[in-house]
Amino acid sequence: MADEVPATVQGIYEEVLRRNPGETEFHQAVREVLESLAVVLDRHSEYSEMKTVERICEPERQIIFRVPWQDDSGEVQINRGFRVEFNSALGPYKGGLRFHPSVNLGIVKFLGFEQIFKNALTGMPIGGGKGGSDFDPKGRSDSEVMRFCQSFMTELYRHLGEYTDVPAGDIGVGAREIGYLFGQYKRITNRYESGVLTGKGLGWGGALVRTEATGYGAAFFADAMMQARGESFDGRRVVVSGSGNVAVYGIEKVHQLGGTVVACSDSSGYVVDEKGIDLEVLKQVKEVERARIEAYADRVPSASFVAGGSVWDVPCEVAIPSATQNELDDAAATTLARNGCRYVVEGANMPTTPEAVRVLKEAGVAFAPGKAANAGGVATSALEMQQNASRDRWTFEHSEARLEEIMRGIHARCHATAEEYGSPGDLVLGANVAGFLEVAEAVHAHGLI
Ligand code: NAP
Repeated sequence: MADEVPATVQGIYEEVLRRNPGETEFHQAVREVLESLAVVLDRHSEYSEMKTVERICEPERQIIFRVPWQDDSGEVQINRGFRVEFNSALGPYKGGLRFHPSVNLGIVKFLGFEQIFKNALTGMPIGGGKGGSDFDPKGRSDSEVMRFCQSFMTELYRHLGEYTDVPAGDIGVGAREIGYLFGQYKRITNRYESGVLTGKGLGWGGALVRTEATGYGAAFFADAMMQARGESFDGRRVVVSGSGNVAVYGIEKVHQLGGTVVACSDSSGYVVDEKGIDLEVLKQVKEVERARIEAYADRVPSASFVAGGSVWDVPCEVAIPSATQNELDDAAATTLARNGCRYVVEGANMPTTPEAVRVLKEAGVAFAPGKAANAGGVATSALEMQQNASRDRWTFEHSEARLEEIMRGIHARCHATAEEYGSPGDLVLGANVAGFLEVAEAVHAHGLI
């Protein structure tokens, strides 16, 4: 594959490979952006002269730390914590914390790198960062999770601040974890610094619509893509992978926009419900009982459960992968296209493999990359920071209207940039170039730092 990297950026890519051995997800994310940037470097020689791309590919700071804690049986546990402060050209580092056994430096760097451009696309004043730990909250008691979060924050707090670095949640980090992390930060610093974390509880500085934002945002983005082609969600069959935060609220908004989601999944398998996923049941199973997706099929007569297998086998016109990275491969993309899929919109971060993106492109399937389509979450986090800074609290309606405006704005920008740079309809190129230009201008303005 390396021979397909455009000659203008080949050297940069090889240096990234050399300097970051074994970090395959990071390589994948960098490569995808570099492939789009060749056309920019051809037009802007100043970015080559000042090594702007090379500087953006190198995190400003990478923090790796030990997180010791004791489980309920008294046994000592050791996890590893990460925070990659990737780029602060546009504002304080902003990006989630992921607690999942698969977390390693390469994954955090891929997510942090994507976050730089995503945050830039929102038009909000936020830089890019990401963090997390290989800690697995699944099956842990509340007090174990609390002790872990307190130990994690006891190291991380010194690197954070509302003008420095503002983490949020991601996989495995929800309102409970943000609460414990915030409590420990407050205790250590003796400051009620609301803007230091986002995704807070509604009663203590959280923002309405943050929970719904990423899923709603992805649906708004998909709607904007369809409108650009004179189409809409009306009556369309949709498949969403996952059944976590992004998936659940993606399904909710798709239904409100007139589409029907007929399948969703978790890591144990998928359910098909030709009547359309019943959100009340799904929320009960996933948000309240935290059960496996099979429980949905046990309760809904029109639904069936398929253990293992690929949710992408279910025919649909719109696919919204919302589970995890590299979950939609070339075989799945081929199946989707053969079954008449017309749109793939990434709710998750990099869920589609590069080979699958190629298959979709060749089949004429419209494709939206996560850094554009799932930016609604971080955009609403920035709105939370805005409300914290002004000691204000907006209504649900106002917050949702701002989210919709931002998502439609991101689509318009990606669409226009793709045209301007000679690839009409290519939202991958549009997102990468538009995001890069915003960051590069600020990097350039700040001098060689
Ligand atoms: P989440 O609430 O933890 O949900 C993840 C869902 O994906 C769960 O249903 C999980 O099932 C499922 N899943 C994980 N691995 C899977 C696999 N290999 N096959 C099938 N299903 C799998 O996480 P989330 O917040 O929705 O995040 C999902 C994705 O969106 C991630 O890529 C995240 O980085 C991205 N994202 C999230 C936000 C946000 O605001 N939440 C914002 C931007 C991007 P199990 O329960 O069985 O593991």
